[in-house]
Amino acid sequence: MADTTQVAIVGAGPAGLLLGRLLEQLGIENVILENRSREYCESRIRAGVLEPGTRKTLLEAGIGDRMVRDGILHGGINLRFYGENHHIAVDKLAGSDPLTIYGQTEIVKDLIAARIETEVPLLFECEDVSVDDLTSDQPVVRYQHGGREYELRAAVIAGCDGFHGICRQSIPAGVQQTWAREYPFAWLGIMAEIFTPDDELIYAINERGFALRSLRSRQLSRLYIQVEPSEQVGDWPDARIWEELHLRLATPGWSLPEGPVIEKGITPMRSFVAAPMRYGALFLAGDAAHIVPPTGAKGLNLAASDVTILSAALDRFFSDSDASGLDTYSDDCLRRVWRAQHFSWWMTQMLHLDPNDDAYGRELQRSQLQYVGTSLAAQTTLAENYVGLDL
Ligand SMILES: Cc1cc2nc3c(=O)[nH]c(=O)nc-3n(C[C@H](O)[C@H](O)[C@H](O)COP(=O)(O)OP(=O)(O)OC[C@H]3O[C@@H](n4cnc5c(N)ncnc54)[C@H](O)[C@@H]3O)c2cc1C
Repeated sequence: MADTTQVAIVGAGPAGLLLGRLLEQLGIENVILENRSREYCESRIRAGVLEPGTRKTLLEAGIGDRMVRDGILHGGINLRFYGENHHIAVDKLAGSDPLTIYGQTEIVKDLIAARIETEVPLLFECEDVSVDDLTSDQPVVRYQHGGREYELRAAVIAGCDGFHGICRQSIPAGVQQTWAREYPFAWLGIMAEIFTPDDELIYAINERGFALRSLRSRQLSRLYIQVEPSEQVGDWPDARIWEELHLRLATPGWSLPEGPVIEKGITPMRSFVAAPMRYGALFLAGDAAHIVPPTGAKGLNLAASDVTILSAALDRFFSDSDASGLDTYSDDCLRRVWRAQHFSWWMTQMLHLDPNDDAYGRELQRSQLQYVGTSLAAQTTLAENYVGLDL
């Protein structure tokens, strides 16, 4: 393994892998170091709603063939509250291309396969990864691999190692400001084998709480219900989940098909931003710098937009010695990040029952739902945010 490179990338999630691919296309040397196994990275089930801009980026990165073949195009979403269903045509209202339903797991597989084909370095199962000398012009990543210790020097380190990674934690205290909000509910999610050709997403709320019916492919549905953060998967046998999904998603003339449950998990709901997204030669991207509750389907899309901005800035830096894009990287990303933060919070508070809310708050929430369900202006605002800002 080389001991120097232009860009050392920590983390092989969507942010790290896509950055590596974009840099490879620009002829910028890079190495990706990941602490998990390839199998683990390729089986982690997470997001699946792609903004038109993310689809375009994946196509331009030359890894969109399977997405085009297997992805499902959705023009809108359904907002279902207290038995009423309102279809929101997000593409028409926002004047954009449709959304693409294609699982994050599949994007990760596509990016890893492309990387392995071009033989650009990607190391799984690195241990004790650490970063140092971040304010020098030759920062370093230290790691162990196959029982040996290594040092990788680079001009730039990209911290793409997610919310629990080491890169953000290596920034000295006091450099970054952080903002955080924990929500008093979590999502219990299941993946179920159900054949549903093209059904659009259903965001639902009634007196029992939130539910979402989403897809990952024509054969796989992703379904969620709001639960308490302290609940365990063991509290929820399949029959109890299906019963709750039927009760929350019910509307006259529509019934939810059931199928075998192949995965189940509880995800806490959190908003978080750390800024600036840069410290010296370390640039944070994706969940390493910010987290949104998944209600707005923004996490993966933000990771993609961060690394699109970073790759363009690195191109100018390495080809023209122009550091201006790197200097504005954090501000350029944060404009988009805060819009997504607000939208994700807004969707979350509109669509969940907050156990701390009072009767007045519940009526405000119902009024807001009715307004969004019936006002073209409110739906247009939702649509613009759902398809994402232009880069
Ligand atoms: C359970 C769950 C469900 C989600 N569901 C949705 C959803 O439905 N919709 C949505 O939009 N978003 C969802 N998200 C968010 C979305 O998946 C993330 O925003 C997205 O994965 C961000 O990509 P990333 O590459 O920045 O981070 P990650 O995907 O977290 O990737 C970081 C990578 O870094 C690696 N790593 C960590 N520490 C180290 C280290 N020390 N050294 C080397 N490598 C390291 C990790 O193993 C991982 O591979 C979900 C997230 C979670 C956790």
